[in-house]
Amino acid sequence: MKTAALLVAAGRGTRAGEGLPKQWRPLAGRRVFDWSYAAFSQRADIDHILVVIHPDDEGYLPKGVEAVHGGATRTASVRAGLEGLEARGVTHVLIHDAARACTQPGLIADVVAALQTHAAAAPAVPVTDALWTGADRMVTGTQDRSGLYRAQTPQGFDLDKILAAHRAYNGDARDDVEIARAYGLEVAMTLGDEDNLKVTHAQDFARAERILRGHMDIRLGNGFDVHAFTEGDHVVLCGVPVPHTKALLGHSDADVGMHAITDAIYGALAEGDIGRHFPPTDPEWKGAASHIFLEHACTLARAKGFKIGNVDCTLICEAPKIGPHADAMQAELARIMGLDLNRVSVKATTSERLGFTGRQEGIAALATTTLVSL
Ligand code: MG
Repeated sequence: MKTAALLVAAGRGTRAGEGLPKQWRPLAGRRVFDWSYAAFSQRADIDHILVVIHPDDEGYLPKGVEAVHGGATRTASVRAGLEGLEARGVTHVLIHDAARACTQPGLIADVVAALQTHAAAAPAVPVTDALWTGADRMVTGTQDRSGLYRAQTPQGFDLDKILAAHRAYNGDARDDVEIARAYGLEVAMTLGDEDNLKVTHAQDFARAERILRGHMDIRLGNGFDVHAFTEGDHVVLCGVPVPHTKALLGHSDADVGMHAITDAIYGALAEGDIGRHFPPTDPEWKGAASHIFLEHACTLARAKGFKIGNVDCTLICEAPKIGPHADAMQAELARIMGLDLNRVSVKATTSERLGFTGRQEGIAALATTTLVSL
């Protein structure tokens, strides 16, 4: 099973307000599109993402995101996307409205799981409110709600079958389940989610914002590192050269503080440690400045949808004295990480002359960081 996500972002919908089509409008610190894209881009069960956009919207597309141009109707746009997925080794497709920005991982997983045993599967929410008919602001009748569901996306399909269904369909359908059923496909229902709303009207933005803020993902990471002293006349700590009677021994510049911070970020992302990303056996990193490692960890955090909340680093040594250099270390770390100074802390302690740091055989550092989902 090789599954693609097809994000339909070609609509001109401006019902949500003046100006931009809704998928490109800001929502909870990103754009609507960025939220729906992120829901699929970080999944192990999604192998490929293709976006359908309006030709006028090329400029809104993030770099590196693959897209095809949509058609005059939603049905034509999805068809263009499906044609774009043909002959790429993809076996299944999840078709998703980019305006559904609050889709949670479990809802997507349920659709993918249902595709193991069904050619088509889509989330739905049972109708629980009483239903009326009405006209001229008067109730004209009541409607039985039993067996009624509200359809959501992503709607999942065997790619060959939904492509054949689209090619056989004439007209503009409300969704792809309608097209699948017209072709004779049986569609399994998975559990939808009230929060998986399609952002359409201005008030939907406020609700989606509350939902997304409520889903905020906060990660904590720790890092610990030790480097031994060797011959030399200075050490590099948190990016700042500090004169000393010794140097620190290490494959890179042996910046023990920056290594601890970098490992804390990798830790919060469950991405191992520096050694995984920059193997010490690789001569390329011999003598390397450690800001390369820290910048990589920060870039990885951003790519995974996180910003760094704060960093706190403690250096453990008898000498050199850290106090006179702490401000410079704080400023250098803040610069490298793109953070405000008040989110970066560097402090130091001795170990009361106990242990290897007490015997001045080396320096230890520990660091803690928080990552907050964007
Ligand atoms: Mg190290």
